[in-house]
Amino acid sequence: MSSTGDGAAVSEELNVLEPSTERVLDTIPRANAGDVDVAVARAVAAFPAWRDFAPARRAGLMREIATAVERELEDLAVLEARNAGKPLADARGEIGMVVETFRYYAGSPERPHGETIPVAGGQAFTVREPLGVVGLITPWNFPLAIAAWKLAPALAAGNTVVLKPAQLTPLTALRFSEIAREAGLPDGVVNVVAGPGGTCGRRLVEHPDVAKIAFTGSTEVGRSIAAEAASTLKRVTLELGGKSAGIVFADADIEAAAAAAPGAVFGNAGQDCCARSRILVEQSALDRFMDLLEPAVKALRVGDPLADGTQMGPLISAGQRDAVAGFVPAGAPIAFRGNVPDGPGYWFAPTVLCPVAPDDRAVREEIFGPVAVVIPFRDEAHAVELANDTIYGLSGSIWTRDGARALRVARAVQTGALSINSNNSVRVSTPFGGFKQSGYGRELGPHALDAYSDVKTIFYSTEGA
Ligand code: NAP
Ligand code: MG
Repeated sequence: MSSTGDGAAVSEELNVLEPSTERVLDTIPRANAGDVDVAVARAVAAFPAWRDFAPARRAGLMREIATAVERELEDLAVLEARNAGKPLADARGEIGMVVETFRYYAGSPERPHGETIPVAGGQAFTVREPLGVVGLITPWNFPLAIAAWKLAPALAAGNTVVLKPAQLTPLTALRFSEIAREAGLPDGVVNVVAGPGGTCGRRLVEHPDVAKIAFTGSTEVGRSIAAEAASTLKRVTLELGGKSAGIVFADADIEAAAAAAPGAVFGNAGQDCCARSRILVEQSALDRFMDLLEPAVKALRVGDPLADGTQMGPLISAGQRDAVAGFVPAGAPIAFRGNVPDGPGYWFAPTVLCPVAPDDRAVREEIFGPVAVVIPFRDEAHAVELANDTIYGLSGSIWTRDGARALRVARAVQTGALSINSNNSVRVSTPFGGFKQSGYGRELGPHALDAYSDVKTIFYSTEGA
């Protein structure tokens, strides 16, 4: 049976691992391209009735889903913490964000959506129409939270969806679809297909009945999706990689900047597209900053995701650990490292590299693991130049007590989100997304809705007839 219910039989099983123990957490059916076709057909069939739901009824149902997820928050958080290897406190926050995201977009179906535009001979106005069936392809680092960033605006705008979670972390998405159905979501509105990207993801992208793909993942796969989607002119939004800079000026609260830096790059074991993995520090404050950063990194509690007080878990897989280790070869300029537990689990110690050469792979490439580089800069112009010297443009931070400088630098750094004297750039109510090769389109905030609907212009003649 496929995960979508009455789909075609699938031949293989998918073993879902727990990265902190390397043991099998669950075994589920592995969906294939045929299951995607079945799921898309169900979404196509469910679309007209869902599109025509009265606005207040759709809003009410989204609130019901939020409440049902909130009721299951602890179970979902434990499942996410175990499957993704993230601290339980983080997982609780992420499931809480799922609740918040559904509540936020529940506000949209009943809000005004169009304009009236003065024209001769009648009345012209715009409405926003849902796209139809949208395909959602999501990564393993924040599995259900990132799915919710797409699900909630897609559903609020009147679309039906097929969600393909990463095969490493499909469990909370599958559980979510059950919860949503129990809360009253009609069959076929949300369909989850747990299978490989190369087959299931690709089939969604090429499927003629899928109107749009919302993708979060690597820049490499994002590029291939954009190219393939061109053949059916599908709408595409892409949230891709990052190599964000945390810029620390000498006039900043250096204690606060250093205390916050480990969380900004080692949170989620560095597997965060917003990770401030390049820490740029004004030369005159470098020694002091490093003196403060070292104990903060060494104090990070790395271990069992379910244990109280854990701040960092393992990496997602053996493959990811190998890839990250490739950025810290023998002889790498390790300034200092944190701790890791012994025994099974895909552990990698938080690592700070300094001094680094400008063309070092660790400086240029997204690592997606707990490795940070610290780079000194001379002055404001140099800081901006270094921050922008990357193909990516997702996020970043600026630490300074000079308000005018903070605003100048915030305007000069080419990224989609920035925070000043803070590392928090993701909120449900504000837009999030990339400049440059970090992607296009915005999730969250009011802007996400634009990506799940098309504008229609209607002209009604008031002459004659
Ligand atoms: P990934 O390999 O790009 O995978 C992301 C999703 O795409 C997974 O569901 C994957 O399926 C699927 N996929 C893989 N190949 C595909 C194809 N040819 N066609 C359609 N779908 C395909 O990325 P990842 O390894 O999960 O995550 C790490 C990367 O994601 C990092 O580069 C990170 O920066 C980026 N990321 C970005 C954001 C953001 O918001 N900008 C957020 C999180 C992660 P399977 O894995 O199941 O095969
Ligand atoms: Mg991958």
